[in-house]
Amino acid sequence: MKQGIPLEGISAEPPRLMAVHAHPDDESSKGAATLARYAAEGAEVLVVTCTGGERGAVLNPAMDRPEVRADLPAVRRAEMERAREILGVRQHFLGFTDSGLPAEGDPLPEGCFATQPLDVAVRALTAEIREFRPHVVVTYDETGGYPHPDHVMTHRVTAAAFDAAGDPARHPGTGAPWRPLKLYYLATLSRAWFAAMHEAMTARGLDSGMGPLLEGWPETAPTPEVTTRVRCDGYFAVRDRALLAHATQITPGESFMRHPRDIEREVWPTEDYHLARPLVPVDLPEDDLFAGLW
Ligand SMILES: [Zn+2]
Repeated sequence: MKQGIPLEGISAEPPRLMAVHAHPDDESSKGAATLARYAAEGAEVLVVTCTGGERGAVLNPAMDRPEVRADLPAVRRAEMERAREILGVRQHFLGFTDSGLPAEGDPLPEGCFATQPLDVAVRALTAEIREFRPHVVVTYDETGGYPHPDHVMTHRVTAAAFDAAGDPARHPGTGAPWRPLKLYYLATLSRAWFAAMHEAMTARGLDSGMGPLLEGWPETAPTPEVTTRVRCDGYFAVRDRALLAHATQITPGESFMRHPRDIEREVWPTEDYHLARPLVPVDLPEDDLFAGLW
């Protein structure tokens, strides 16, 4: 890790990073190379997965077999364990049930994550924060980054738990108060990223497959301001292996697995973040999630 002026009280501890995600596979598709890099450099990294992904579909035709569909929760748990091992991080399930992606106007399934009283879910995550004691927490922005009810709920729960965990009056009985110092929102998979990849591939005479996505990108889509670019191109291969471990969710050679990795390393060697809550003085833009802490 970087040397610097240590903050009083945390200098002797390894840096700790918590990433809070909605479903198994989200940690491998959003910010995974960052997690792998910090873990390899000696940080303690914990992924908290809010739901078990029970209502996800089998998206990879090669995995769409009766025995897989029959026990998808167990299959996804095993995939998560493999991805965790590849990334070199720890992982906990928060224990809520996937809300699925209901058709417009359809109600959410009873008891699912997105219908939980906010306080119940915040209490569960507060307990995780008080146990792991992260210095930095990463999650999605207010939009969820993608309009899935579990992603929006993950944002709400994480932002609230970030604020609650250091307050002894909140959620007594879930461990000693702990105040994380920086909260980040993922700014990966941005329009700018897709546009840069599309342009670079087109310039090399390759069909990016991203044209329709870019054309259909809503003008009104919010773009979180990038404050922090973490160089992690050395870990894109680890990210890819973790992603492929979620075999029911990813088809090799399709969508995100399609663009040439040498182009990605050349054009966009970072994963990007928006610093939403700094509780320490910061100097933006930064290139390290732990900047200002060590
Ligand atoms: Zn998800």
